[in-house]
Parts: sequence; structure tokens; C-alpha cells
Amino acid sequence: MINKKIKVITVALLSFIFIVALAFTYSEISSLDENEKILEDIYSSQMETILFSVNQHSDDYVNSWANKIASTLNRFESHDSISYLYNALVNNNKSIKCVLTADTLNNLKFKEPKSYNLDFKEILKNNKVLIDRLVRYSQANYRKIEPVELKQKNGDLLLLFIAKDIANNEELCGIIINSEDFIYNIIADKILKINQGNLGSNFIIAVINGKNNTTIYPDTASKKLDVQTRKQLWLLPEYYLAMSFTGETVESLVQKRTYTNLIFIIILIILIFVGSYAAFKTIKKDIELAQIKSEFVANVSHELRTPLALITMFAETLEMGRVPSEVKKKEYYTIISQETNRLSKIVNKILNFSKMEAGKRTYSFDLIDINDVACEVFNTYKFHVRNKGFKFEIKVDDSLPLIKADKDAIGEAIINLIDNAVKYSEDEKEIKITTGTTDENIYLEVADKGIGISEENQKRIFDKFFRVTSNLVHNTKGTGLGLSLVKHIMEAHKGDVTVTSTLWKGSTFRLVFPIEN
Ligand code: ADP
Repeated sequence: MINKKIKVITVALLSFIFIVALAFTYSEISSLDENEKILEDIYSSQMETILFSVNQHSDDYVNSWANKIASTLNRFESHDSISYLYNALVNNNKSIKCVLTADTLNNLKFKEPKSYNLDFKEILKNNKVLIDRLVRYSQANYRKIEPVELKQKNGDLLLLFIAKDIANNEELCGIIINSEDFIYNIIADKILKINQGNLGSNFIIAVINGKNNTTIYPDTASKKLDVQTRKQLWLLPEYYLAMSFTGETVESLVQKRTYTNLIFIIILIILIFVGSYAAFKTIKKDIELAQIKSEFVANVSHELRTPLALITMFAETLEMGRVPSEVKKKEYYTIISQETNRLSKIVNKILNFSKMEAGKRTYSFDLIDINDVACEVFNTYKFHVRNKGFKFEIKVDDSLPLIKADKDAIGEAIINLIDNAVKYSEDEKEIKITTGTTDENIYLEVADKGIGISEENQKRIFDKFFRVTSNLVHNTKGTGLGLSLVKHIMEAHKGDVTVTSTLWKGSTFRLVFPIEN
């Protein structure tokens, strides 16, 4: 009943813990996605800021070139002067390949350096809409610079804008740059600062070619980066600014952490289960012990009451002089003496047990012959046991070496075993004491052909207060202390007590002593 209650409480508690752990695990796993999303947002907004500053930096450069060209056009009319200044611009800036101006938006006025082979007219024709828009911007006093890809030229880009010449006419200007040179000479500067900044060693900002995804800058980075997010550059539409990880990605760090948390939870659940199981076992054992103890009190009371009742009854009968014959009187005296013996045996057992429990039982060891003890007990008990209808025998091995033992304690152990053999035998009444040796030890066996002990109970019969709770045993008186006393005695002798038994066939208890060297 109590066990059932504990079980219910334990199961309810475990289920509760399990559900909480499950909910936590679920929230951890679902937060993985959420974490990744948050991270993506962080990357994206960080990237946006970086991109803006890189674009701004590129724009500043290109605008400064455009300003120089515009002011040249605005101040000089002579072809030579303008050409001279254009050449200076080309020579001073590694990324500029050529500077061009078309005077009436139809004819080329300058083409520098001369070697740059470009069909400018074709470009003008193809980009008419764009140029018209640039002109409209210029009329509104805003100079916009637009990139135009030069298809046949590898990585070369034409940056178009409108500037006003000395006569205030709108002229189409172009700066031809090489994109990769521009990246190395101008954008790299900015990126270097960003990479050295507070991004942390795990991140780098790189420029990648959008067509083949190869890394242009930094050239130390591996050609294929673990790109987290990328954004197109304003001026160089073919190129992208990319944020990538050199070390472990934050996602994988977050993932790892989440997995570590999960492992911890699993370990925790296992520990909780193991702990609960251990607690359940201990509580169960304690309750069983409490139950067993109360049974013990009932058993002992019963054990004491029966002989006391008999003694009182026969003593009173004798006292009143109501016993007619001497034979009867003798019989009554014998009963009184037997029952007194039984009483003192029980009381001794209890006293010995309480001494043993308190750790106060002492032993006095002497060199003794175990056969002597066995024979002494056999001789004392043989009439008593045989009187009860038992075939009682002893067979000793005369070659046994002496052992160091407490003679009285060993005698007590043997008596306990004989007592049990008598108590737990039914129809086949046969008890045999045997002594002998094996390679490692000396033994004394008490074998009976009684009711036997189930395998499950064999493990527990040496526990204090334990009694087999089958109906048959309940009818047999006992305290559940005998075998625990035997075990204690044997342990004090550095030996052991073992049992082999088959239900309804009989049991053999063996006291095992180590051989003295
Ligand atoms: P008890 O006072 O009950 O005999 P013990 O500690 O001596 O206490 O024995 C514990 C239990 O072991 C007994 O209740 C009985 O069920 C079982 N037992 C002991 N000896 C024998 C035996 N020889 N045959 C069958 N069962 C036995």
C-alpha cells in the first residue's frame, strides 16, 4: 500500500520533471532558428553600415577626380592644357586608365592615352537614355557619376558624368578605371581599416567578383570564402562586398552552445532519473525496514509470550499441588525447564543482536579445532533433535587444520543453523552436519531436507529482521535475527556464510573459514 503510494508520487514527480525538461529542450531547439535569424539581421545591418562607408569612400575619390576634370574644363580652352592636366590625373592615379571628354556629346574631343582603343561613339549610342538623364541632373546642378561596363575590356569600367566647359556647354566626361586596380588602390584602404577594427578576428570583409565568386581582396584570403552576406558595390556593379568568417562562425558557436545545453539537459534528466531511482529504492528499503521491525516486535512478543504462558501455567498447577503423580510432576518440571531454556535463548539472541548492532560485540580468538565445536554442539543437541523425530548425523573431516576462532560464537552460529533446520523442515526430517576443506578454506555445513528457500529470498535471509513471508513460515516462530547473527559472526572471522537451497527439497548452509597460514 505504502509502496504503491511512493510509486505513484515518484512517477508523478518524474513525469513532471520530464515534461519540464522536454519543454525546455523544445524551446532550446526552436530558439536555434530564432538565434540564427537574429544573427542574420545583425550581419545584415552591420554589413549595411560597412557598405555605406565603403561606397562613400569610393564616391569621394571618384568625385574628387570628376571635380578636377570639371574645373580643368571650366578653366581651360586649349586642347594642350586640358590634355596635359588629364594626363597628370592618369599618371597620379594608378586605377585611372584614361580620361575622356566629348564636347558636343557627339564627338570625341580628347582621348587619353591614345593607345586606349575604345569605340566611344558606340557607347554613346548604347547609353543614350543614361546620358540624357545625366544631362538633366547637370541642368539641375547635380553631378551624378554612372558606371558603364566595357564589355570587351577585362574589368575596365567607364564612369560617365557631365561637366560644363569654359563656354558653359554641357560636355560628357568619362573616366576609365580598371575595377580591380580601383579595389586594390582605393577600396582596399578602407577595408583594411574595417578589418583591423572591431569586427573581431573571426570576421573579414572582402571584395568578391559576383560572376565567378572569387575573392579579389584581400588576396591572402582563400579564394572561396565562407560568405555570410554580400552586397553590391554602387560604383562597381560586378563586384560585391562580402562579410565572411575566417574562424568558427557565430551560428556554429550558437549551435554548439545550444547542443552543449541540450547535452547538459539530457545528462541532468538521466541524473534526476538515477537520483530518483536511488531515492525511491532507499525510501522503499526504509519503509520495508520499518514494516519488518514492527513485525519483529510482534514476533518477539509472540515468541516470549508462549513459553511464559506455559511456564506460568505449569508452575501454578504445581504450586497448587494439583498434580497427582510424580511422573506428571517430572513431566511438568521438564516442560518448565525447556521453556525457560527457550526463553533465555531468545533473550540471548536479542541481546547478542543489540550488542552486534551497537558494534559492542567482542570475540576472543583462540586456535581451535572446528570439529570439536561441531561435535560438542551435536552431542548437546542430538537427543533434543532426535526426540523431534529427526535423523540427525555428523560427519567430520579429521584432517582439518586448526583455525583461529571464537569457540562460543561459532557454537552459537551452528546452533542457529540447527535450530532453523529443525524449524523449517516438514515431512522429511533429516539434518546432517559435515566438515571439510576446499583449496582455499575450511567449511562446516548444516544440511536439511526441509521446505527450502526460493532464489529471490536466498538473497535476503541474511538481512536483519527478514523472515520469508509465506504462510508456512508465518506459522513457524522466529525473530528474523538468527541468520544475521550468523553472518556477523562469520564476517568477524573473515569468513562467510553461504546457502544453497531448492524449494521443497532442502537447504544447505555453509560456514566458510579462511585457512590460517
Ligand atoms: P528466524 O527467526 O525467522 O528463523 P533467521 O534469521 O534465522 O530468522 O532466518 C531468516 C529466514 O530464513 C527464516 O524466516 C526462514 O524463512 C529462512 N530460513 C532460515 N533457515 C532456513 C532453512 N534451513 N530452511 C528454510 N528456510 C530457512
